[in-house]
Amino acid sequence: MTADANARVLSALRTAHAQILDELIEFAAIPSVSTDPAHSADIATAAHWVAKTLAAAGPIDVRIMPTPGNPVVYGEWLGAPGQRTVLIYGHYDVQPPDPLDKWISAPFTPTMRDGRLYARGVSDDKGPMLIPIKVAEAFFATIGTLPINVKFVFEGEEEIGSRHLEAFIATHTELLAADFVLSADGAMWRINEPSLTVASRGLAGLEFTLTAAAKDLHSGRHGGGVANPLHAMARLVASLHDDEGRIAVDGFYDTVRELTTHEREEIASLPFNEHAYLAQVGAPATFGEPGYTTLERQWTRPTIEVNGMWGGYEGPGQKTVIPSEAHAKITCRLVPDQNPNDVIALVTKHLASHVPAGTTLAVRVADHGAFPSSIASDHYALQAADAALHAVYGVHPLIVRMGGTVPISELFQRHMNLATVFFSFSTADEDYHAPNEFFRVHRLHEGLEAWARLWSILGHPHRSEDAQ
Ligand SMILES: [Zn+2]
Repeated sequence: MTADANARVLSALRTAHAQILDELIEFAAIPSVSTDPAHSADIATAAHWVAKTLAAAGPIDVRIMPTPGNPVVYGEWLGAPGQRTVLIYGHYDVQPPDPLDKWISAPFTPTMRDGRLYARGVSDDKGPMLIPIKVAEAFFATIGTLPINVKFVFEGEEEIGSRHLEAFIATHTELLAADFVLSADGAMWRINEPSLTVASRGLAGLEFTLTAAAKDLHSGRHGGGVANPLHAMARLVASLHDDEGRIAVDGFYDTVRELTTHEREEIASLPFNEHAYLAQVGAPATFGEPGYTTLERQWTRPTIEVNGMWGGYEGPGQKTVIPSEAHAKITCRLVPDQNPNDVIALVTKHLASHVPAGTTLAVRVADHGAFPSSIASDHYALQAADAALHAVYGVHPLIVRMGGTVPISELFQRHMNLATVFFSFSTADEDYHAPNEFFRVHRLHEGLEAWARLWSILGHPHRSEDAQ
């Protein structure tokens, strides 16, 4: 694309700022809460709104595709032969607005205050997902074409764990075939520093029970006669780590990819203040696997966490009992190249071989794990995203990771071997699962410019030079 065509698209987007904001207000007024069956008609309304807006953006082939749950709105334009094809992801469903009395303005009456638009779903993900639609419209209206091929996938179940997305992807790998995924979902780290997320951790969980006697026993009559499962549970849980915080499960670290020197330098260069972090979480000191910084441990090292332990008498006063059972729940955060099924097997084996004397073990594996996912730091799509953000903000984005789990990048990676670039313009502080969710209007404008620039960079005529 010529510099002139670029400039015309950017100028068309600037001219359309007020109109795009009006459309976002209309979109955010639809209460498309996916977790509440009372809102199923609103889900349908939102899906139609997205389909209509996508169809109005240009000659895009749009369809509403049913799933056993909420529909996927799919759109494609493949009119740029020889250019890359980008799969754009977003979601039109929103979190429930509760607690309602904490909202300053009604959650589905989008309201402007101080350059922020307040409404449920406006930051996650309606504002960010509207951006690529309006960017497509600006390209079509101005120069009649797009610099790249695009496929849009907007789902309506992200806030309920993307229940039917995996089956949808698995059955439509040909329809969805693309060079990489560009996600309009997934917030940036901080408002003052643009960032690109290159990895997220996976998840595996299980629950286990230790049993001694078949029923609770009197500690006077039976104390000294049989094992106490609570004592045993404390020992068993403690055996998962060494005293310094390293995981003591055999083989747990075997498939963990060590960071390169460059990756460690990148993380060390990020603005992260340990004291501020401790003040924020209210802890007296950081703790974890030795040999790694706090950010490295949170982003790039696996963990085993006990999420709950219970058993015995917890009421007021005393009860002289030897409980029959003790219970615990644990989850593991996983990093490349760990596999949740293998991790479950290793942890189960560890538990079984460390069962304290006098007790028996029962393990129940949690419903679904998730693989960790990451994009290579020299991937052309990441470099293009870096260049686009640099053009908008005048600085290179921070390269960050996520301690949490992002199901979609893992799904696209596992089923289609596609890397995901997160290119959302919401920010982690925009209260998107809390009352008074907002989206900064200047981020809407910056997002429009950045997406347009990114598409132009990706559609560069000399693409063979930067192809990987
Ligand atoms: Zn989201």
